[in-house]
Amino acid sequence: MENLRYIDDVSTLVLDQDKCIGCGLCTEVCPHNVFELQNGKAEIVDFNACMECGACVNNCPSNALEVSPGVG
Ligand code: SF4
Ligand code: SF4
Repeated sequence: MENLRYIDDVSTLVLDQDKCIGCGLCTEVCPHNVFELQNGKAEIVDFNACMECGACVNNCPSNALEVSPGVG
């Protein structure tokens, strides 16, 4: 995702792995491949690619994700 970078280090994305149930929905809906499933939990593998669209937050069934759209 080198050609579609947002500004580095400003995303408000937060993942609470204790709440994550490993459903994988965030890896499917994120348009920028921010997440990967590792050992049954979501991991943020490309934090700076997040453009705070909110798709992951809206689809996560366990409220493990938070983002404040437009803040960054
Ligand atoms: S807010 Fe959008 S771009 Fe950021 S991690 Fe979630 S789905 Fe991906
Ligand atoms: S959508 Fe939520 S529960 Fe599912 S893998 Fe992603 S963070 Fe975990």
